[in-house]
Amino acid sequence: MIDTHVHLNDEPLCNDLAGVLERARAAGVSAFVIPGYSPDGWRASRPIAAAHPGVHLAAGIHPMFADDASLKALDGEIAAGGLVAIGEIGLDYALQEFDKAVQMRVFMAQLDRAWEAKLPVAIHCRHAFDDLHAALREYNGLRGVLHSCSCSLEQIGAFLDLGYYVSFSGVVTRSQARKVKKLAQGVPLERCLIETDSPYIGTEEHPPAEVEPCHLGEIARALAVLRDEALERVIEVTTRNACDLFNIDM
Ligand SMILES: [Zn+2]
Repeated sequence: MIDTHVHLNDEPLCNDLAGVLERARAAGVSAFVIPGYSPDGWRASRPIAAAHPGVHLAAGIHPMFADDASLKALDGEIAAGGLVAIGEIGLDYALQEFDKAVQMRVFMAQLDRAWEAKLPVAIHCRHAFDDLHAALREYNGLRGVLHSCSCSLEQIGAFLDLGYYVSFSGVVTRSQARKVKKLAQGVPLERCLIETDSPYIGTEEHPPAEVEPCHLGEIARALAVLRDEALERVIEVTTRNACDLFNIDM
């Protein structure tokens, strides 16, 4: 399995990286994508990928860190090479203190860069799916994933039409998460990815601070049960999807 969104550079994971990766591998998780959300985050992640095989890097500016200095820094990060994606980038209208117009401008500037660098995008989106779709529609042929996707099954069709993948996190394991469970039942398996987003998203069994990449199997299992498919098939297809999107060899 590939944990397609895990913040290995953040506490508490970075404090016990060897243990985190060992537990993950023992649980069948052998590759990881660290999404970068700010210049400080990218800087902390580079040495982790250099020291550990199977750890891949993405770099982007999260809407919370959207400013021109970070955009300029992103050009240097892309030029340094070794990225499998631009992300996490996106729109978050739940964060009311962050201006929507600034978020959109910095998001579009990063879509431009992904397009030029021929890299896929890892997208964070909350309460902004209409604006997100309007922006992505401008970039015909750009590939990417909606990470820990929270839109409805009705909304996802327009993104599937554009070729995007949908990634499921620990939210899908929670008994209360009806909307996401419905989404997990309706998206074709060929478009599904899995991620823990640890240490930020809990599962039914583990609170966020306890979640590690080794818990990715809980998410694969939830998908298998919801879709009434064999666990092996869910693992095989989601792994292949991740390799394909991020151009990772396993
Ligand atoms: Zn994240």
